[in-house]
Amino acid sequence: MRTLRFDIVSIFPGMFESPFGESIIERAREKGLLDIRIHDLRDYTLNKHRKVDDTPFGGGVGMVMNVEPIARALESIKKEVPKARTILLSPGGKPFDQRKASELSHQESLILICGRYEGVDERVRLHFADEEISIGDYVLTGGELPAMVLVEAVSRFIPGVLGDSTSIVEESFSEGMLEYPQYTRPRDYKGFKVPEVLVSGDPKKISAWQKAEALKKTESVRPDLLEKIKRSN
Ligand code: SAM
Repeated sequence: MRTLRFDIVSIFPGMFESPFGESIIERAREKGLLDIRIHDLRDYTLNKHRKVDDTPFGGGVGMVMNVEPIARALESIKKEVPKARTILLSPGGKPFDQRKASELSHQESLILICGRYEGVDERVRLHFADEEISIGDYVLTGGELPAMVLVEAVSRFIPGVLGDSTSIVEESFSEGMLEYPQYTRPRDYKGFKVPEVLVSGDPKKISAWQKAEALKKTESVRPDLLEKIKRSN
């Protein structure tokens, strides 16, 4: 059994309680597959008011998070996990995807830095983070939700976290495409019927239908994914 450890640095540690205290993540923590520790950034400040931000040099709107408390938090965490990979969550980072989630799941330990305000002093990215990751081309108020997204997507690759280890293999993006459509009971809901092939009992026909549907859906919604597959062949 392997354990992946996450250390998350945030000024809102309470935000993580429910998402990490229920469902799959909670069970994985109970089984010892995940070790998630939340660190309050304000515990690493040296000023009386536990302030973690200041006005930007050169002017501009809003506040910027100071490098010092973040560097002190990382120094303290790395005493326990010196080999941890440090990730700064930021809209300016490389886009997060299923491949990245799989890659990160092979690490022993990940440190996630959650920004707030207008972001963090650039010296954090330059000198303290191993990489900068964005969860999408939009701007959120803080790095806490991105950290939760990353933890959940990465954790699903840890053997034992999902009940059925084959389910991740068949999911969207696993072969670069979206997943085929799924149906369950009843076979006929007010005239909306399940495709006949799925109740045919013929595994070859079902598999061919699923492949064709996955391709059709990917072509219509995410043609960029098919281009990516073509380029990598
Ligand atoms: N001024 C920054 C910019 O324009 O790139 C946005 C800062 S945002 C309001 C505050 C924090 O939220 C960021 O430091 C980052 O940690 C987090 N954040 C917001 N959107 C994000 C995204 N798409 N991916 C990852 N983190 C994000």
